[in-house]
Amino acid sequence: MILITGGAGYIGAHVALELMQQGDDVLILDNLCNSYRSTLDRIAALSGRRPGFIQGDVRNRGLLDTVFADYPIDAVVHCAGLKAVGESVREPLRYYDTNVGGTVTLCQAMAHAGVFNLLFSSSATVYGDCATMPIDETCATGQPTNPYGQSKLMAENVMQSMVCSDERWSVGLLRYFNPIGAHKSGLLGEAPTSTPNNLLPYLLQVASGQRAALSVFGRDYDTPDGTGVRDYIHVVDLAEGHVKALDALRTQRGVQIWNLGTGLGYSVLEVVRAFEKVSGVQVPLVFEGRRAGDIARCWANPEKALNELGWSARRSLDRMLADAWRWECHLHQEEATTLVS
Ligand code: NAD
Ligand code: UDP
Repeated sequence: MILITGGAGYIGAHVALELMQQGDDVLILDNLCNSYRSTLDRIAALSGRRPGFIQGDVRNRGLLDTVFADYPIDAVVHCAGLKAVGESVREPLRYYDTNVGGTVTLCQAMAHAGVFNLLFSSSATVYGDCATMPIDETCATGQPTNPYGQSKLMAENVMQSMVCSDERWSVGLLRYFNPIGAHKSGLLGEAPTSTPNNLLPYLLQVASGQRAALSVFGRDYDTPDGTGVRDYIHVVDLAEGHVKALDALRTQRGVQIWNLGTGLGYSVLEVVRAFEKVSGVQVPLVFEGRRAGDIARCWANPEKALNELGWSARRSLDRMLADAWRWECHLHQEEATTLVS
């Protein structure tokens, strides 16, 4: 059985679905601070099985000890965490407590229970403002420009030290680039509980009429059209990467680091234009200054994951945007139905 912390969230839910579809038993632990219980129904509808679920906090050591004692868990995917960059600047202690403290508590409980296979949701943000592109795993980690990024790097360092001290551990640090998109059914995707910070969820809310315009942060970067360039990856490709990485953990010891990206960079304006083409909806734009802490360019060299896991991202930007739009329309329709009934 695989424990997924934060499994009711955007990425964890897609990982849960992918694992269940290949026959694994999944237990989700989530405090639902940034997700909805209804996500479990969505996973059940798509997989034909219900994941186990415990509503609880990853910082609660007593709860974790009970969970490991009660369930035959042999690996953990640790997605639980806080991820809003701006919020992390305002509330750094909450971010370090959850993202670093939560990781420490989880690792202590795992070691106590004799469970040593761990996959961690890390981020390309740990590379900081890398001078050379594409970024491979040998690039030095940089200086993340906000407490969120720092907390991810600190959590990575915690696990690196832990593995050095105890050779029973097998840890995979998955450095995600920019996950977007949704399940192709349109029934599972990102459901922000507050104003989104990331490009795609904000763009979707503009396109569906919930917000007036998309702010484009900066048009004077050293990029072909002046807007920021990122490596957007379909969330289902990302989930498939977790399945492969979990397989690898079972036969390896130590720390492995894998970039999960496509190797392609798209600018904000390229994403907007591609979205308009795929959806047929115009997106009103407002050009603003650069967002504090943003970098100009960031895309992955994903070869290590290809060579070591046999994994590569397969879904195109158009596919990511079409799937995301299908999900947004579904969500909107669901909300309208709930209001009427
Ligand atoms: P999300 O907010 O949708 O999911 C995180 C889940 O963790 C939520 O369901 C939330 O309720 C839960 N959670 C938060 N604190 C918890 C706690 N103390 N105890 C138990 N559950 C808790 O975010 P996501 O996009 O699915 O991200 C998952 C992970 O991937 C996060 O760690 C995030 O930092 C990392 N990540 C995300 C992105 C991205 O762009 N989405 C990029 C890089 C890394
Ligand atoms: N961005 C934007 N408007 C928004 C949100 C993001 O122009 O409302 C830009 C941002 O400046 C960056 C890119 O979109 O160049 C991706 O930002 P996101 O927050 O999604 O990811 P990250 O910055 O963490 O890579």
